Order: sequence, then structure tokens, then C-alpha cells
Amino acid sequence: MESLKNFVGGEFIAPVNGNYIDNYEPATGKVYCQIPNSDAADVELAVKAAEQAYPIWSGMSNEERSKILVRLSEGIEARMDEFVKAESRDNGKPLSLAAHVDIPRAVSNFHFFATAIIHFASEAHPMTGVGVNYTLRKPLGIVGCISPWNLPLYLFSWKIAPALAAGNCVIAKPSEVTPYTAFLLGEVARDAGMPAGVLNILHGEGGAAGDAIVKHPKIKAISFTGGTKTGEYIARTAAPMFKKLSLELGGKNPNIIFDDCDFKEMMSTTLRSSFANQGQICLCGSRIFVQKGIYEKFKEEFVRKVDATVVSNPEDPNAKLGAMVSKPHLEKVLSYVELAKEEGGTVLTGGTRVELPAPYDGGYYLRPTVIEGLSFDCRTNQEEIFGPVVTITPFETEEEVLMMANSTQYGLSATIWTSDLQRAHRMAEKIDAGIVWINAWLVRDLRTPFGGVKSSGVGREGGWEALRFFTEPKNVFVKY
Ligand code: NDP
Repeated sequence: MESLKNFVGGEFIAPVNGNYIDNYEPATGKVYCQIPNSDAADVELAVKAAEQAYPIWSGMSNEERSKILVRLSEGIEARMDEFVKAESRDNGKPLSLAAHVDIPRAVSNFHFFATAIIHFASEAHPMTGVGVNYTLRKPLGIVGCISPWNLPLYLFSWKIAPALAAGNCVIAKPSEVTPYTAFLLGEVARDAGMPAGVLNILHGEGGAAGDAIVKHPKIKAISFTGGTKTGEYIARTAAPMFKKLSLELGGKNPNIIFDDCDFKEMMSTTLRSSFANQGQICLCGSRIFVQKGIYEKFKEEFVRKVDATVVSNPEDPNAKLGAMVSKPHLEKVLSYVELAKEEGGTVLTGGTRVELPAPYDGGYYLRPTVIEGLSFDCRTNQEEIFGPVVTITPFETEEEVLMMANSTQYGLSATIWTSDLQRAHRMAEKIDAGIVWINAWLVRDLRTPFGGVKSSGVGREGGWEALRFFTEPKNVFVKY
């Protein structure tokens, strides 16, 4: 069986402790490779390699770094099929999704920041007759990037690309559940001519390798995407060391549908925003609020369409949903379906596992699930489930739906469906979210700020925000 290796100092090496953990294929439930169970000793090696590389990498011109990052982006593109298959196999997502979303987006992330750095500028503040202030933006040094399993390479590259473009050296850890494309990324970085030690990729568990990255005194910033509980722990650990922190955390996003929406477009987008990637996207709209005038019509058509949605093995071209990422996660999501029933909800469709024929009989498949009849403040409607489970709730007025939408601890994204322009702007202004889509979902421009409010995170990724995060401003004053 294949054993993945860490990528440290430009070489692929075994973990210092010699320990490995099993990596499961969600589509079959079988182990298909082993990954290093790295710990603090591996982080130490990676930091040493990064320290050596830092003067070389930060000393290069932006144009030189840009060229290497463009080559890296082209290197992923050239191996597109391999990356797509690896992502789908590791995560359980349909091949078509990995081919249309995950890997092309990772290519774009590297390309975007490779070119953005050439245009990145800093400010000057002249004081008439006195002198001038100018701001230097220097890289931070060595930074840590830790990412989750739901969009593995997509989110990994969203952090690594700006960090590298700005001149930092990186110690990165993908989720232990989906390590494979991060492993391939090491090969592409080496082949793109990235100097040894600039990008170091460690595999292993959050509590060991991840924790050691967060605690290492020479790692100056942590860019983290994952669950709110983990984010809270990282903030508690890193704050006394005065590390810069970017935390992209959980969500419980409202999808608000008014009577006057374009019903057809709303319906097809709502099917995606509810269940894309098996509902395992932090931006999925898991709380659907529908205005009373169209509630029954919406419910009938939505449930019928969800019921007809094909759940199948990721290689099946007809699959709209593939496998859930892991057995524990599948069990967690199923436990929320039980909770919803205890809380008085009615399961209108789904809520059960899908049994597929061999070799997929051990896979983690779940029917997309729609639940109604729950109060907006019950646990099912307040806690992040992160699976193909949505609730539908009727409402009458804007005030009522705003109150329900803003009632959770989260504030990542929101979607609003209406053809009333004034209402759309009014709602967007009042809703607690870092990202609002009006009559759309998951349309992303890489220049825009990305992140959440409340327990959904601290800081913003994307565009200049990311390049500012990965640099330290220094003001210099010169007297006339
Ligand atoms: P986790 O918080 O469990 O893990 C995220 C990453 O952190 C993994 O690499 C994990 O390693 C690592 N980790 C775990 N514990 C620690 C620790 N103590 N110190 C350092 N690193 C640690 O999240 P999931 O992987 O389960 O991802 C799902 C979550 O991510 C959901 O809550 C979702 O909303 C959120 N998310 C947020 C997004 C956003 O942009 N706001 C986007 C996508 C997802 P390991 O895998 O080994 O445990």
C-alpha cells in the first residue's frame, strides 16, 4: 500500500517518529493509503528548512516569485486529471465537482496571487512642508497554514498562494482525512523550481502536527480554516505568543426566499446551495426560510426534486451527491437527523443511508434530507451540521426573517431571493454575515474580501486582504 511522505526542505521524507495513519476512501470505506503521523519533531525540521530558505525567497523580486508561482499553477493544470481523481477519491465528492470546481479553483488561486503580487502597492502619507511617511510591507517570515477536508486543495491553495507570493516561507498541514492533493502539490512545487524549504507540507493529526505548528515560536502567523471549536483553541493558544491570526470558521447560513423571487432560478440554485459537495461547504445555505405565499409551492417542488437527486459513487457521471467524507462525520450528521425528530421536526425526504452495490457497499452515502416543523431556535437550527441536511421554515415579514436569520452564533454567508431592489439592499445591510449573495449563490471574485462575523471567524481572506495579512506594515518618516 502506498505511504505518503512529508515534503520538507524540497525532499519527500518519512515522519521522524516513523508512525503512519490509515487514509480511507469514503466511496468504499476501505483504507487505500497511509499518511505520516507527524508531530513536533517534523515541525522542527520544517522550521529549520524554512529558516534557511527565507533569505533566498524573501530576497527575490516580486517578478521572480511570480514566475515560479505561475509555473506552479500551470503544473497543477498540466496534471489536472491526476489531481481531480485524487481529490474525488480522498474526499468522496463526485469527479465532476472536483473537475469543475476544486482543482480549477486551486489553479486560479495560485495564478491570481502570482500576478496580484506584481500589482501590490503600499501607501505614502505626505505632510505638507514637514516630510513624508511611506509604508513598507515586508513578509512576516515563516507562517503556518492549516486547512480542512471539505475543499482540500481549493482551501489549502487559498492560503498558501498569498503567503508565498508575499515572500513568506510556509509550513502547511492539510486535513489528515484528505491529504493526497497536498502531497501532489509538493511534487508540483519542486518541479516548478521553488527553492527547497520555501513550501513545507506536513501530514498528520490536528492535535499533534497542527498543534505543534500553532505553538512553534518561530511561526509568526497562523491562517486557519476549520471548525469554530478548533479555531477557539488555536486563538487561545496563539494569542499569548502575539501571532497574527486569520480564522475562517463554521457557518449556519440562511437562504431567504421571498414571494417575489424568480422561482425557477431560485429553485435550481437552492438545490445546489443546499447539497453541493454533500452539503459540506461552509457556505451552503442549511436554513431555508420561505415566505408564506409560496411556502407550499416551494415545499412540494423542492422535496420532489431532492427526492429524485442521484446519490452515487463519485465516478458515476450521473451522481449529484457522492459519499460523505468519513464514517464519524456521517454518524454525526445522522445524529442530527435524530435530534431534529426529537425536537419535533418532520423529515420530508432523506435522513437515511444509501446502500450501493459492491465495491461501494461500505461507502458513506446519505440521502439529501429536508426537515420542516422546527422552531428557528432549536439546536438543529442553531448548530452547524455540515452535511446534506436542510430545514425549511415559513415566514411572513422582513423583520421576522431577519430576527430568525440573525439568531445563530454564526455569520458567514447569506443568500436572499427577491426581485425588490430596495428590499434586497435593506436586507443585505442588516444581515449578520461577511458575504451576502442576492439572487445567486457561491459566485466568487477572488479580489473580494472573504470571511465571516461572530463565531464564523476573524479576519478576511482574498485579494489585497490576504496579501496584507501575510505582510507587516512598517511606517518610515523622512523629514524634508
Ligand atoms: P477541523 O477544525 O476539525 O480541522 C481543520 C484543520 O485543523 C484540519 O487540518 C485539522 O487536522 C486541524 N486541526 C484540528 N485540531 C487542531 C489543533 N488543535 N491545532 C491545530 N490544527 C488542528 O475542521 P474540519 O476539518 O472538520 O472542517 C470542517 C469545518 O471547517 C466546518 O466547521 C466548516 O464550516 C469549516 N470551514 C470553514 C470555511 C470558511 O471559509 N469559513 C470553509 C470550509 C470549511 P485533522 O484533520 O487532522 O483533524
